Amino acid sequence: MKKISHWIDGKVVEGTSGRSGIVWQPATGEQQASVDFASVEETGHAIAVAKAAFASWRSTNLSRRAEVMFHMRELVDANRKEIASLLSAEHGKVLGDALGEVARGLENIEYACGVPNLLKGGYSEQASSGVDVYSIKQPLGVVAGITPFNFPAMVPMWMFANALACGNTFVLKPSEKDPSASMFIAELLKQAGLPDGCFNVINGDKVAVDAILHHPDIAAVSFVGSTPIAKYIYETGTANGKRVQALGGAKNHMLVLPDADLDMAADAAVSAAYGSAGERCMAISVVLAIDSVADALIEKVKARIPNIQVGPAADAGNEMGPLITGEHRDKVAGYIAGATAEGATLVVDGRDGAPDGGFFLKPSLIDNARPGMKCYDDEIFGPVLMVTRVKTYAEGLALINDNQYGNGTAIFTRDGGVARQFQFDVQVGMVGINVPIPVPVSYYSFGGWKASLFGDQHMYGPDGINFFTRSKVITSRWPDPATSTVDLGFPTNR
Ligand code: NAD
Repeated sequence: MKKISHWIDGKVVEGTSGRSGIVWQPATGEQQASVDFASVEETGHAIAVAKAAFASWRSTNLSRRAEVMFHMRELVDANRKEIASLLSAEHGKVLGDALGEVARGLENIEYACGVPNLLKGGYSEQASSGVDVYSIKQPLGVVAGITPFNFPAMVPMWMFANALACGNTFVLKPSEKDPSASMFIAELLKQAGLPDGCFNVINGDKVAVDAILHHPDIAAVSFVGSTPIAKYIYETGTANGKRVQALGGAKNHMLVLPDADLDMAADAAVSAAYGSAGERCMAISVVLAIDSVADALIEKVKARIPNIQVGPAADAGNEMGPLITGEHRDKVAGYIAGATAEGATLVVDGRDGAPDGGFFLKPSLIDNARPGMKCYDDEIFGPVLMVTRVKTYAEGLALINDNQYGNGTAIFTRDGGVARQFQFDVQVGMVGINVPIPVPVSYYSFGGWKASLFGDQHMYGPDGINFFTRSKVITSRWPDPATSTVDLGFPTNR
């Protein structure tokens, strides 16, 4: 049985806590590995190693730090398939989807290659007579990343690329459900020339997370996961004086107006709802269909569902893999069962005909979902698409804005004026106009509103650079004995 341990100070370190977790093979339902769970002491050791590495890494010049990122970019590029196959094996997503995840993660390493430019400060000459004022961005110290199961490579890349390029050292606590990609990334960073101790992986559960949140030497925590845990991370981390960004869950709505191309909208809804078995925080989970086109749109979605190939990632041709665990599969199935009892209409039941052996469900389609039903209110995080019928654009917009989450949304229409109004009105962080999964490119930043993000800075891009640095402003005057006087007044410019 494969055993996954920790990565500390540039090497694999066996766990000593005696605690471990199961890594399943979601496509077969069997255990494929065990993962060591770190104790408070082991987590503290990784943080101490990162702290020791910080002084030298922050002093390393920008060109060299950028060079390490350039090397990492080449290594990830050369190992796309290797990383993707780790994702498929432990997460279950099909290979094409896994390769897409690596590609989107790689963008963040490419962005971090520009760190010399990104860390430029400002300079004001002659702010007062003989006085110049300038600002610089400095790293925070040891920063931590705590990541979810659904993007085991991309989400760590969202975090460590900018964090390391800015001169911080890093402790990653990946999801215990699929930790191998993080361990492989650690090896690649070492090959890329990152000094030992700058990037460490601590595997584990709440014990390791709490050790991070309470450790005085952790300066900042970047978290991605479910909303209840994101809130806990934000409250506990900030109470302990840390800078925290905590991205949470989602319930993304796609509003389809009568003038939309319905085939395009149906293709988009099916792709965005069922891709990665719906285990994406940017998945579309509710289609808001204006009454006049609702029946036609549902028919088009329904017609596409039987064509989706569901099965193990290992079989080429499959488009949708299993869910992450049996427990999660059963929870999602429970929402499908409950939907009818709540008064919704089950149009396609994905519990029927799911492949045997692994944690599979086929796509489900539920019509007449309304607020107040659990299937509508909760984040299901599975291949279940709800349709909610609305009479007007305004009713659709109100449902989106009333939702507790505000991660992503999309509008499908040919009317540029309405789309622009939607962009203006909607209370959601990432908006697609005829684009169902509007994940920002790496030179913008990723983040939701409301219960989808706790904290001020979004993830990666310019916000990522801000999050992993703090600014310092220097006011300087070089002594000019000719102008020196004693003046007890408050310094003024005019
Ligand atoms: P999760 O919240 O269960 O776990 C995330 C991380 O927190 C993991 O590393 C886990 O070990 C740790 N954790 C879990 N329970 C904890 C506890 N009680 N105390 C301390 N730490 C704990 O999330 P998940 O199931 O791995 O991922 C799916 C969730 O992540 C979904 O809600 C999804 O929407 C969300 N997500 C959000 C984004 C985003 O950008 N907003 C992106 C991806 C996933």
